Order: sequence, then structure tokens, then C-alpha cells
Amino acid sequence: MKDKLRQIAEQGREALAAAGSEAELQQAKARFLGKKGELTSLMKGIGSVPPEERPAIGTLLNTYKDELEELFQQRLNQVRDADIKARLEREKVDVTLPGRQRFTGSKHPITLVTEEICSIFASLGFGVAEGPEVEMDFYNFEALNFPKDHPARDMQDTFFVSDDVLLRTHTSPVQVRTMLRHSPPVRIIAPGTVYRRDSDITHSPMFHQVEGFLVDHHVTFGDLKGILTAFINQFFGDDIGVRFRPSFFPFTEPSAEVDIQCVICKGQGCRVCKGSGWLEILGSGMIDPEVFKSVNYDPEVYSGFAFGMGVERIAMLKYGVNDLRLFFENDVRFLKQF
Ligand SMILES: [Zn+2]
Repeated sequence: MKDKLRQIAEQGREALAAAGSEAELQQAKARFLGKKGELTSLMKGIGSVPPEERPAIGTLLNTYKDELEELFQQRLNQVRDADIKARLEREKVDVTLPGRQRFTGSKHPITLVTEEICSIFASLGFGVAEGPEVEMDFYNFEALNFPKDHPARDMQDTFFVSDDVLLRTHTSPVQVRTMLRHSPPVRIIAPGTVYRRDSDITHSPMFHQVEGFLVDHHVTFGDLKGILTAFINQFFGDDIGVRFRPSFFPFTEPSAEVDIQCVICKGQGCRVCKGSGWLEILGSGMIDPEVFKSVNYDPEVYSGFAFGMGVERIAMLKYGVNDLRLFFENDVRFLKQF
């Protein structure tokens, strides 16, 4: 009986050692330690052993049983560890591999420049207003001191929808609409799309402007110069030269065009500035009393200034783009550089 026991225990050890997976281990366990296992069956046969030998056999049986159970537990832990290691190896992620490239969109350069202009003026206390692109003649011309048949209307080649309705030729109608709704003080900039019958490398039939104006008591030309110089220095840098040149607009008096030192040649003279060393970027002036009258502001009480700039022109200078049409062709190779 003892020999038989020793033999079974030895077989059990071998089976457990040879089992390579959790399933095989469970099988081996069932074969020796299960309810119908070999060791268990032997235990049941203990009745046939002479009584004086039974305690010794019983002890031996329990020793082998404990030993095999312990061995089973050990092997189970080993097999499970090996499983986890194998799985980790299989599922290993190489974090040094380059990721998959995704195409990220970006803002259009005209949007970027418009936002930058707006944020500079916002920091100077200006609010933002918008208006319709299909506009009444009254807001686009009449109220801005362009009476019907006024020769200044020829300065702006207009797309007419009907006699009285047109595509706005500038963002100045927002000025009129704002002043009709609000009493002074007002301090507004109005970015937007405008339309003129014009198309070549520096003109597009659809382009963008930012209009700005300020009305209050005692506003002077000095305020206009101060605000516009502050804007130009923030946008183009502190060291850039600025000059104001007399000009004419129907809705401002006096009027001035604003030039900056050429950003390409730093004032030396080049093809972009046509050798002058200066680039025109803004139109401006003190709001004409006639405009105040059409929005019911008293020109004896209030004064103000207005200015307007072409966003494409500013973007061309900022990014060194030499053909306006690039902004509207929507070539991704061009757009993704911004
Ligand atoms: Zn130049």
C-alpha cells in the first residue's frame, strides 16, 4: 500500500510539473486529488488495510495530498504569471512609434488678420458691430454724404441689385446703422465682406474691410492719430514709421490716408512700395458734419473720427503675399502655411 501511494504521489508530481497550461493543471489535479482521483480512491480503500497500519497510511496519504495540493498551487501561480507575461508581450505598444498623421484644419489668413485687428481695437476699448452685405443705397451712400449723382460715387464701382439696393461697397454703412441706434459715446469697429466691380492682381470683386469709428465730446484729429498709431505699432511693431497724408473721402473732413514704412525694404524703396519706401494701409478722417446730420447727432456737440482698412492688403503685407487672388483660390498648399 505504501509503495502504491509513493508511486501515485510520484506520478502526481510529474503530471503537475508537465502541465503547461491552467487547463492541463486542473486536469492533473482532478486525476489525482479529485473526488474520483487516484489518491482519493486509495483513501477510500483504507478499510482494507490492517487496523494497526491505518494511522501510518493515513498520515502518509495526507502528507502526499497536502504536498500535491501545494505543488498544484505553485504551478498554477507560475502558469498564470507566464500567461500574463505572454499577453503583455503580445499586446505591447511601442510608444516610440510615430503616430498616424491627421490633417488639421487652420483658419484662413483673412480670418486670422481680421481677428488680430479686432482684438487690438478691443484692447483699445472698441466694441464689434456687423451689418448686412446686401444694403440700402441710403446706408451705403446717401447717409455718408454721397448724394445721388455725386461724382464720388464713381470711386466705388457698385454692384446694384435694384435702383435702391446694392451689395455694400464698404463697411461704412455699419457706422450709419450703429449711430442711428445708439447715442454717443460710441466706439465701434465693424469687420466684414464688401463688393466692387474690380478684378486684377491687387483687386478682387469680393474683399474684406474693417471699419472703425469713435464719437464723443471733444474728439480731435490728435485722438485719431493716437489710436491709429497705437494700432499700427501693435500690429506691425513699435519701430515702424507712420505718416498721415491729406486725402479726400465724402464722409470725412479733413481726411487722411495713413502710410506705414515699407515692411519689405524698411523704407529704402522697392518694387512693392514702387520705390517710395511707404505703403498706404488706411483711410481715415474726422466724421463730416453732414453724416452726423443724417443720423441725428448734433455736430455742434459731438465730434468723431472714422477709419477703414482693407484686410487683404494688410494680410499681404503681414505675410509677404504678392497676389491677392491666392487668398480666394483656396489652394490647400497655400492655406496650410498659416
Ligand atoms: Zn519697399
